[in-house]
Amino acid sequence: MHGVGVSSGIAIGHAHLISHALLEVVHFKIEADGVEDEIARFERAIGLVKQDLEQLKAQLPKNAPAELSAFINTHLAMLSDKSLSEAPKTIIRNELCNAEWALKQQMDDIVAQFDAIEDAYLRERKQDVVQVVERVIKVLLGRDQLAASEKKLQARQERAMILVAHDVSPADAIQFKHHQFAAFITDVGGVTSHTAILARSLNIPSIVALQRARDLIDDGELMIVDGAAGMVIVNPDPEVLSEYRLKQNQWQLAQQKLQRIKTTKAVTVDGVAIDLLANIEVPEDVISAKASGAVGVGLYRTEFLFMNRSEMPSEQEQFEAYKHVAEAMKGYPVTIRTLDIGADKQLNPDEVVTATNPALGLRAVRYCLAEPHIFHTQFRALLRASHYGQVKILIPMLSNLAELRQARLLLERAKESLRKQNIPFDEHIHLGGMVEVPAAAINAEAFAQELDFLSIGTNDLIQYTLAIDRADDAVAHLYNPLHPAVLRLIQLTIQAAEKYQKPVSVCGEMAGDIKLTRLLVGMGMRQLSMHPSHILSVKSQILQSEESVLAKQAKKILSFSDLEKIEPLIKKFNGELL
Ligand code: PEP
Ligand code: MG
Repeated sequence: MHGVGVSSGIAIGHAHLISHALLEVVHFKIEADGVEDEIARFERAIGLVKQDLEQLKAQLPKNAPAELSAFINTHLAMLSDKSLSEAPKTIIRNELCNAEWALKQQMDDIVAQFDAIEDAYLRERKQDVVQVVERVIKVLLGRDQLAASEKKLQARQERAMILVAHDVSPADAIQFKHHQFAAFITDVGGVTSHTAILARSLNIPSIVALQRARDLIDDGELMIVDGAAGMVIVNPDPEVLSEYRLKQNQWQLAQQKLQRIKTTKAVTVDGVAIDLLANIEVPEDVISAKASGAVGVGLYRTEFLFMNRSEMPSEQEQFEAYKHVAEAMKGYPVTIRTLDIGADKQLNPDEVVTATNPALGLRAVRYCLAEPHIFHTQFRALLRASHYGQVKILIPMLSNLAELRQARLLLERAKESLRKQNIPFDEHIHLGGMVEVPAAAINAEAFAQELDFLSIGTNDLIQYTLAIDRADDAVAHLYNPLHPAVLRLIQLTIQAAEKYQKPVSVCGEMAGDIKLTRLLVGMGMRQLSMHPSHILSVKSQILQSEESVLAKQAKKILSFSDLEKIEPLIKKFNGELL
């Protein structure tokens, strides 16, 4: 099977299928004389889930938080409520449809009613409905109960497991950080979707856009995942298996060899130094950041602190996370990005998205300006953390100066409130902005003037410049960082930063792609921030390059406006190295 490789390496292991019951519900008609059986099937499923929940409640440890049993009680009460336990039966009778479909219809109806509630707390309770319905649907579909699946997973931890899913939301993926998988493959997704970024951050081979892998692969089947080639081989014969075991060893050896340059400075042959920084998602990632020899954190995506929970993290919780990173990086710069929520990153993965075009909607800085208390709390936490290391603040998705000015005003208010309380912070903290919307790149001079630094988010810059959804596999083949329009926007941003003598970096996935290192350095980029696992291979490119040669070649590449001419030139450009 072929898909899009998003993280290199070779894994050999057994499939662990992840189901997403709500996505798997299909609609089919039943015969009139099958109605009573279908209703009985529905009642049995409700009964089983109730039993399961009662058992869970009885087994809760004494020191379990009180909310947990309250939460189970809510689900139990919902299962007994007529709107869930009776209404679907009427739908089965009237529409002669299967039980899963009837229940899903009823759920959508209830969720729509919740959406109309003004009270935010009550509105959020719709999640409980979705979760409880998902449990019942899993039983109806004959899927393992969640607990059983967890148990199976634990039992399987002994051998290499390969996670196979239709799709995984960023919020789900962050949970997988706690499990040891050898590889990660999904039916849908694009190279720079947030799911792919997280998959990469697990530092294991991953492939997305495999179309029907989840259907075609059986649970427990032996398979090979070749991340670089974007290829999955299911049930390999012995020769293929031994060939891949050899490849796996070679790959591991090459990785070990790179370790030799871990403490070497990233400097070109003619003496131009490039800062190689790490992108992190959770505070624990500082361990791999330091292990990779990164000279700082160039992008800390804080949104993962806000996901998979019903309440916002408090100022204290945020402060502790940011302080941990600032202290652990021991004086190296730590650039922390304010909450970038929206588009393919939802606070709650089960929440139904109503925006017709979420990537163009209330995302990132727009969201935070609409909810200033969230911004205020995060700014206070960031400022407090700045006392413990070299913290810089980065604002995502800026498209106009007004957003920047409003954000700065809120930052000043947060500073003022800390001063009043005599809480120490870095008075000279740097404020930077992401250049990831074409408007910001075209208008980069204005942003360079008002900000302390710029950071180019190429993942979104490409998405918005080329009008290609970064998470949509159907258009993944059109997502091309070498598109001349993208290169020109990067060039404009670099020139604006140079004019106002402000540092500029690339923190999108382009920074960690060794096929683009020489081009970016040639264009004048002196800071690259990437997933820690790419730092050594990018460094190896830099150590073998001469900046003056790269500059000339980059200039030539930039003079073309035809992608078909640029691509072969890049190949030639990298020729002797890759
Ligand atoms: C980017 O858009 O390139 C970026 C670094 O931000 P994110 O991938 O988190 O959207
Ligand atoms: Mg972005």
